[in-house]
Amino acid sequence: RAKSAGGNRFELADPEADARAITRHGLTTSLPAALERGEFFIEYQPLVHLGDGTVHGAEALVRWCHPQHGVLGPDRFIPLAEHTGLIVPLGRWVLQEAVRQARFWQQRHADGGPLRINVNLSPAQLHHPGLVADTVAVLERSGLEPGALCLEVTESALIGADEDLLKPLRQLSEMGVDIALDDFGTGYSNLANLRRLPVNVLKLDRSFTQGMQRSPADPVDLKIVEGIVSLAHSLELAVTVEGVETGAQAVQLRELGCDTAQGWYYARPGPPEKLHALSLADAV
Ligand code: C2E
Ligand code: MG
Ligand code: MG
Ligand code: MG
Repeated sequence: RAKSAGGNRFELADPEADARAITRHGLTTSLPAALERGEFFIEYQPLVHLGDGTVHGAEALVRWCHPQHGVLGPDRFIPLAEHTGLIVPLGRWVLQEAVRQARFWQQRHADGGPLRINVNLSPAQLHHPGLVADTVAVLERSGLEPGALCLEVTESALIGADEDLLKPLRQLSEMGVDIALDDFGTGYSNLANLRRLPVNVLKLDRSFTQGMQRSPADPVDLKIVEGIVSLAHSLELAVTVEGVETGAQAVQLRELGCDTAQGWYYARPGPPEKLHALSLADAV
């Protein structure tokens, strides 16, 4: 089968691409009902202090338990939700749920150290006029102090951002909410540009940690990370590294001066009970 695409252009049929398009369409149309039916859930992945390995907090990562397709990761549906605008109510739900969970951890483990929660924001949420009011309402309802929340925004979402787009982030930052630049190093942001962003945490993308897995690690990779860390620290940004999978990487990243880390070496994302057990074990 070859579809005529008008004129004398022909497109060859690609059954796999068709199947993917059908699935994508199906997922897109079932997103709103999925939110109503409570098919989304959150896994939490701990962030640890590289200095002593204690738990610093956790990142909330959304999943969709789809009745036909099973558990879908965010890469499968966040772009669709972003495209259709459903990301706004979905993101609000994630924020509310994650903040409630963080407050629960704090109350249950008052002596387990401060537990902080990281929540991802998509570009559409950044552009949504209700962002500040929604966040304030969620914090007030839960009783979580703003300083225990960190909102993660990708570097690409802020590239070329004008003051109007940065204003809500600036307001949140002034309230004490941490703002992290996620997947740092994958975009093309001008390092000097960091100064004008209301950001106080830099999350180094997994691609850097992957480069360190080779043994011996590429000395140029190490120099780059070292340079980023020293620049970040001179701008008073804390540095978190993503994707730490081995003890050797953790040691190296600590030597390079990174502050906190996240990755399979410490724990995979999991249900809240898992982190609960982890932070308890940590406190003893
Ligand atoms: P991210 O924010 O950069 O999250 C880190 C991703 O790396 C997660 O993938 C996590 O499971 C994975 N990861 C953590 N440690 C390791 C490791 O040691 N090795 C490897 N190979 N991977 C590791 P996940 O859960 O599939 O999430 C993918 C992306 O989806 C996230 O990237 C984030 O951008 C987005 N996302 C997740 N939850 C939400 C949400 O609630 N709202 C929005 N807007 N985006 C979300
Ligand atoms: Mg993130
Ligand atoms: Mg990230
Ligand atoms: Mg990443």
